[in-house]
Amino acid sequence: MNVNQSIPPVPPFGQPQPVYPGYHQSSYSGQSGSTAPAIPYGAYNGPVPGYQQTLPQGISRAPPSSGAPPASTAQAACGQVAYGQFGQGDVQNGPSSTVQMQRLPGSQPFGSPLAPVGSQPAVLQPYGPPPTSAQVTAQLAGMQISGAVAPAPPSSGLGYGPPTSLASASGSFPNSGLYGSYPQGQASPVSQAQGHPRIQTPQRSAPSQASSFTPPASGGPRLPSMTGPLLPGQGFGGPSVSQPNHVSSPPPQALPPGTQITGPLGPPPPMHSPQQPGYQPQQNGSFGSTRGPQPNYGSPYPAAPTFGSQPGPPQPLPPKRLDPDAIPSPIQVIEDDRNNRGTEPFVTGVRGQVPPLVTTNFLVKDQGNASPRYIRCTSYNIPCTSDMAKQAQVPLAAVIKPLARLPPDEASPYVVDHGESGPLRCNRCKAYMCPFMQFIEGGRRFQCCFCSCINDVPPQYFQHLDHTGKRVDAYDRPELSLGSYEFLATVDYCKNNKFPSPPAFIFMIDVSYNAIRTGLVRLLCEELKSLLDFLPREGGAEESAIRVGFVTYNKVLHFYNVKSSLAQPQMMVVSDVADMFVPLLDGFLVNVNESRAVITSLLDQIPEMFADTRETETVFVPVIQAGMEALKAAECAGKLFLFHTSLPIAEAPGKLKNRDDRKLINTDKEKTLFQPQTGAYQTLAKECVAQGCCIDLFLFPNQYVDVATLSVVPQLTGGSVYKYACFQVENDQERFLSDLRRDVQKVVGFDAVMRVRTSTGIRAVDFFGAFYMSNTTDVELAGLDGDKTVTVEFKHDDRLNEESGALLQCALLYTSCAGQRRLRIHNLALNCCTQLADLYRNCETDTLINYMAKFAYRGVLNSPVKAVRDTLITQCAQILACYRKNCASPSSAGQLILPECMKLLPVYLNCVLKSDVLQPGAEVTTDDRAYVRQLVTSMDVAETNVFFYPRLLPLTKSPIESTTEPPAVRASEERLSNGDMYLLENGLNLFLWVGASVQQGVVQSLFSVSSFSQITSGLSVLPVLDNPLSKKVRGLIDSLRAQRSRYMKLIVVKQEDKLEMLFKHFLVEDKSLSGGASYVDFLCHMHKEIRQLLS
Ligand SMILES: [Zn+2]
Repeated sequence: MNVNQSIPPVPPFGQPQPVYPGYHQSSYSGQSGSTAPAIPYGAYNGPVPGYQQTLPQGISRAPPSSGAPPASTAQAACGQVAYGQFGQGDVQNGPSSTVQMQRLPGSQPFGSPLAPVGSQPAVLQPYGPPPTSAQVTAQLAGMQISGAVAPAPPSSGLGYGPPTSLASASGSFPNSGLYGSYPQGQASPVSQAQGHPRIQTPQRSAPSQASSFTPPASGGPRLPSMTGPLLPGQGFGGPSVSQPNHVSSPPPQALPPGTQITGPLGPPPPMHSPQQPGYQPQQNGSFGSTRGPQPNYGSPYPAAPTFGSQPGPPQPLPPKRLDPDAIPSPIQVIEDDRNNRGTEPFVTGVRGQVPPLVTTNFLVKDQGNASPRYIRCTSYNIPCTSDMAKQAQVPLAAVIKPLARLPPDEASPYVVDHGESGPLRCNRCKAYMCPFMQFIEGGRRFQCCFCSCINDVPPQYFQHLDHTGKRVDAYDRPELSLGSYEFLATVDYCKNNKFPSPPAFIFMIDVSYNAIRTGLVRLLCEELKSLLDFLPREGGAEESAIRVGFVTYNKVLHFYNVKSSLAQPQMMVVSDVADMFVPLLDGFLVNVNESRAVITSLLDQIPEMFADTRETETVFVPVIQAGMEALKAAECAGKLFLFHTSLPIAEAPGKLKNRDDRKLINTDKEKTLFQPQTGAYQTLAKECVAQGCCIDLFLFPNQYVDVATLSVVPQLTGGSVYKYACFQVENDQERFLSDLRRDVQKVVGFDAVMRVRTSTGIRAVDFFGAFYMSNTTDVELAGLDGDKTVTVEFKHDDRLNEESGALLQCALLYTSCAGQRRLRIHNLALNCCTQLADLYRNCETDTLINYMAKFAYRGVLNSPVKAVRDTLITQCAQILACYRKNCASPSSAGQLILPECMKLLPVYLNCVLKSDVLQPGAEVTTDDRAYVRQLVTSMDVAETNVFFYPRLLPLTKSPIESTTEPPAVRASEERLSNGDMYLLENGLNLFLWVGASVQQGVVQSLFSVSSFSQITSGLSVLPVLDNPLSKKVRGLIDSLRAQRSRYMKLIVVKQEDKLEMLFKHFLVEDKSLSGGASYVDFLCHMHKEIRQLLS
């Protein structure tokens, strides 16, 4: 989010402020969120009985269906039929009439003031039918999985590239390294393990490559669109940079729209040979047996794996090395956009405008289309026909963040109240009134812009038209002049035709041995005492409407009665976890202020009560079941905050076994690592969605906990997962508490349904994100916060029209934190084209990558990872080949020509391809991969951008007094200077890399030690020192953290230190240890693929 605007707030709605006092300009506050209080907007004289909104269809929450369950393909895949015994009954709302009353909770002899008391009988709901994974499997129909799948490499790791030697290396990483790797007791440093070579710093002056080419003149011709950073690639340890292999071409004259890269793009050996079971071990370079000339396309890195299948005799001397400075630079593109588009506000009045990049700070003025903070598209000009779209292969998708937080100088959507009649909609397609609806017949009727249906204007909404056919009140009504606004929903939009109660938060705390031992329980209970004062509030409300409840558990559950009238909290134990029920209603969910004394007492006692516990086993499914039943009994939506430490192996529904098996990597069975172990979790998630029960899961694992399975319920309920491996209070409390505070305070919409409507010709066909779908159109979200996005893909179902363009309307029905039912509407108009060049001129690569990453990350559930990677490569090649064939001027096949808007597609796609999910390094655990996979699923475009291509900021280059962020450099080792320090961040990780030759004064100023050697490697906190450099760096770190939705723990990495391996993982332009190609190599490969498609 670009929140650092200095431009003064501009009401997006112009003058009418005084005229329509009902419009509320809410001030932005991180605490109170972005939704404005619903001040009725009395624009017309109340509802007229003549116009009664019929029961809305589509967006309204339909009564839960008890119809036939969707097909459950994932069940078979998981080999689990564990819940066949459950009934097929209606699992939905309200207490079931089939009450079973035979169980009483057991009591627990804790010597605490919490007297166990008896409990009420259980209300047992039968489990529903197994859930579907149809939307998951359906996806793959669209994936072109080509060719034969390569046979699995031997489990020894041969054939899977070099990193096998690293398997034991993670012990040398600090806790919570990448995602919190587990230290392995027996670990040895990455070097020398099992005789494997130590990773060398690049030796850039490989003579065998340099010899046959003429170094470019320093002022050699460069393409204007390809100007990389002008920094010479400063190396450390090596000779000063010469770029012996740079062969550049004369500047092209004839091809303005594209980026040409000419030169040594000779045909490289195949990247993925069907005969090859993966990458060969590294054979060349500074270690290994073959030290001959680089057999490939002249990778600058000695560690280059051979992509081909010839470990034998060296291939003919490779052609020239492609100069990294001559290929498109992400840094340059980002800088150019900042310079060109960061100064003017982005005004949304014009159809089909491509917004500034997500990395540019800009102000948005809503003049009829939704802000790019809410919706970004892969292209803002879409082909008129499906044939054209198929030819180009450019995915048509929108990344939607319906409740996005806005910077302080942009106003939250206005809330419109149409009274009892509810929001005005098209009678046929149910689209909501929006600026694109066409009023006709003097204003008495309107034609729907989505389906062309002619609708009567209800009398109370009538208004005259001006001479241009526009309603004279158009600019006084948000729904007629703005891209985004909210409607107050009527009771028709509420579950069971009843306005909702305010939501509740339930804190469910694992009190097993591990949770107690690490200090987690004590830390958490202490924090909650103050954090409960910051529950989300709406507008100017004095206190939050949200009620809270508390549960602790190990292999049994403990409920707490914290009614305000009690002197002490009371505990109730439920040990029958097979049939979970809630033993108390009254006193379980309470108002924080009313019950403060009892809650404080409880939070004081919990760590003491379980201090001596020996219980190591936990349950999981029954815990969520209990929370969900509690919300059901209270007839409200809400969120469960689950703090969990271990694989749930206690006897209970959802019991798991350790099925982690690294040998499956790179085999056809790798997908099972990403699939849930049992269908019980999906079944439970479906029940939670029906109740509007969202789960945020905080994991504190010491070993494998099966994140793939445990994250199913958070994922399907719109929740979040946080993971703190090997949690230790002293090391991790800052990160955990920051995440927790933000998570608890953030504004959430509950019990939400999202529908995306489109104008005739295209329709939404696929959805990616954290949600559940029981039909093909409604995205159901038990909870949705301001960080979550839903990516929607569109396909043609008819011909589009250049003149009328294409329209999207996203409608989100949700319950606000205060319990108000609302509809948030976002509208966006796009252009349509009959020329492919127009498509390629209006694409947004960052959004494309967001879509492609989500598509691929879902693909690994069902397909071999290699097939998923190949699909991405093929699609990228097709996109670029289509451009080359249809849009670029004829030129020699030796030239790679990229569309200007997509010139970063290869580098970014390569980052996706070699990400931990698609090509894991040996230090990446199965849980890490599952964790990242589900994180990316909900990321917005800015998050995927920095996640896949991290930011690398030099610290001492810019003037010390400069308060702006230093310009980034490319994420490659050759951009590092050993006399400098760099911050690297990707939204999850934050490193401070210190070069070995950093000046002593700098070391002293920042670390308060006298030399480089005295800096503690792995340090996570910089000393607070009173000097400009220390203040600047710490300020920059704070600023980076503030921009991200999760706290990034700092890791100080010294050059040449063993921890540097961890850091280098993020230098994504370089070849990765897991075999991922360097940017240069990948670009060559992409060029070859394109040439093949064109020939
Ligand atoms: Zn319509």
